[in-house]
Amino acid sequence: MSSQVQPPHQAPDSKVDTRTSGGGLGEINGDQTEGQHPDGLVAKAVDAANEVVAKDGEDGQRSKASLVDGWRYLNKDGFTREPLKIAIAGGGASGICLALKLLQAQKSGRLGDIHITIYERSQDYGGTWHSNRYPGCRCDNASHVYQFSFAPYADWPQFYSSSRDINKYMHIVAQKFGVEPLIKCNRTVKSAIYSEETAKWTIEVEDKDSAVETIEVDIYVPATGVLSQVNKPHIPGLENFPKDKVLHTAEWPVDLDYETAFKDENVAVVGNGSSGLQTIGTIAPFAKSVSIFARSKFWISPPILAERAGVRDWKGGNFYYSDAEREEFAANAEALWKHGYELSEATMHLFDIFRKNSAEQEGMKALLRQLMNADLRDPQLIAKLVPDFDVWCRRVTPCVPFMEAIHMPTVSLTMDPIEKVSKQSITTKNGQEYNVDRIILATGFDTTFKPKYPLRGRKGIDLSDIWSIRPKGFPNMFIMCGPGTTFANGAVLPGMEANAQYIVDVVAKMQSQDIRSMEISQESQDEYNRQQESVMADLVFTSSCSSWYKGGKADAPPDALYAGSSLQFMELLASPRWEDWKYEYRYKNKYSFLGKGTSSIEARGGDRAFYLDKEIYRNPLRESEYREPTNGAIPINI
Ligand SMILES: Cc1cc2nc3c(=O)[nH]c(=O)nc-3n(C[C@H](O)[C@H](O)[C@H](O)COP(=O)(O)OP(=O)(O)OC[C@H]3O[C@@H](n4cnc5c(N)ncnc54)[C@H](O)[C@@H]3O)c2cc1C
Repeated sequence: MSSQVQPPHQAPDSKVDTRTSGGGLGEINGDQTEGQHPDGLVAKAVDAANEVVAKDGEDGQRSKASLVDGWRYLNKDGFTREPLKIAIAGGGASGICLALKLLQAQKSGRLGDIHITIYERSQDYGGTWHSNRYPGCRCDNASHVYQFSFAPYADWPQFYSSSRDINKYMHIVAQKFGVEPLIKCNRTVKSAIYSEETAKWTIEVEDKDSAVETIEVDIYVPATGVLSQVNKPHIPGLENFPKDKVLHTAEWPVDLDYETAFKDENVAVVGNGSSGLQTIGTIAPFAKSVSIFARSKFWISPPILAERAGVRDWKGGNFYYSDAEREEFAANAEALWKHGYELSEATMHLFDIFRKNSAEQEGMKALLRQLMNADLRDPQLIAKLVPDFDVWCRRVTPCVPFMEAIHMPTVSLTMDPIEKVSKQSITTKNGQEYNVDRIILATGFDTTFKPKYPLRGRKGIDLSDIWSIRPKGFPNMFIMCGPGTTFANGAVLPGMEANAQYIVDVVAKMQSQDIRSMEISQESQDEYNRQQESVMADLVFTSSCSSWYKGGKADAPPDALYAGSSLQFMELLASPRWEDWKYEYRYKNKYSFLGKGTSSIEARGGDRAFYLDKEIYRNPLRESEYREPTNGAIPINI
């Protein structure tokens, strides 16, 4: 037997089916009584306890005396877990991470019967890393940082991973941890409607043949991504350009061989966010010409944390791990851990740079300005591209290939806005016409966070309609990586894990404490938002610059981001503040879940002396350790 203390929720020996272990619950006859919700909302709670009075005495457990002020305990084991059905929309890193953590919690006995389905609209899962196949697409966090803490990978081929390698990693994770069978691809969530009557969500899911399935679930989790709704700008005349020659970076055809296809083409790249810069840097050597139509200045950095990688053979701002090193990582846990640890630890120092006017911010600004000036050389290019705004107001891209491409004679850059597109050219506002054979839209994503389908909570209110005014009334819905998460503070994955663990905690609470529904209280939400906005005002994300953090607007609030460090985000979510929630219970007494007084160990098996830690017993106290008190207490007469 393990010497580890097993908390009561761990019941590995359990053979009992939690669906049927509810005892008295089998006696619920559907009669309903009104239960008062703390906010005045009326909950229909099933008062099972008081419907089974006739059985008192017969089962020898509940007596007439146990009816106290109208409440009689439920004839069931304590902490009985109700089966729960959970639908997750989105099979990206978030959906995979959450499903995996739910499965692990179920395996450990913390959760009872749960039924999880992930609906993914694409033909494969992987999210961002499946959809973004454009040339040069890669993560701007080091590979050994952009991985789940529970799934370190020995075989990352490069320091910065390509989207293809991250997609492969996501598949290995989903396969190894049993998530893949839960993912239904080619399934788009078309609507999600909450019923106050049943406290459940009705989800409509459409498959690729347009057949619609309607599912009722207890919990709905949108994990639909922030950078997943393709944004195509309205450019006058774009519809006249040959359709097969217009591409969006996030819809790159699987079979397009740009190295040969672009050889005789004048290619226009519209947009200069991370995806634009990565695309330009990669296609420029293979295209007849590349015209860049940019709108904003941007900070480019050399490889971030490069010094932590040791001496390497850097090429184009990246390097390959050798086969020998990957074998070493696989064989030597210490080596793999140390490499990931050093990079991750360094990432967690970034937050001080995000404070406006801080020495770290000013130092970083001076450094990047110096490096960009040196790389760009040409005063005209410097004037066009090097920003005045704070570093990280827009996400900083480490993109050496772009800095090399911008000096090629075949590459040109204009900051003049596009006026119109014709069949074979683009004309800018100042009247300059550019002949182009292909247009690549590197115009990013709609980051307004508004769901693209009806998502209705209490009273039929649609989330899209009230998004900007601090929405409320969406019980039993928990978002993965929604607004206000840690997209700027290094890699998003540690925050994502904390987000998923928080939802597991919520599900465990709902399942074992007879909770019918829970939602954030308006008061907590308002106070939290005030605190966040107050801190955000002093962070560089609220400086004036166009960024996807703010839906592409220069002075909009950076809704995407958490106003604090990743470490704080993780600490906050690690201990759910249950007082921030308001609850409806299944029964009229919120302690109904204690049932007839037994613990989950007694109900489902497990170690009844779990609290005795064998490790501690290796070091028992000895009488010889006794000393005369030094604080004035009376010495024991031994
Ligand atoms: C080009 C690019 C580079 C990036 N680089 C970094 C980086 O360096 N570091 C970093 O931390 N983050 C980076 N990100 C952010 C990245 O999106 C996150 O790191 C992470 O992949 C988000 O995972 P997710 O599961 O939350 O969202 P996504 O990966 O976007 O997955 C969401 C999934 O939901 C699906 N979906 C959407 N709507 C529906 C619906 N109605 N029904 C069913 N399915 C639906 C989508 O098809 C998608 O598969 C980058 C993003 C992009 C686009």
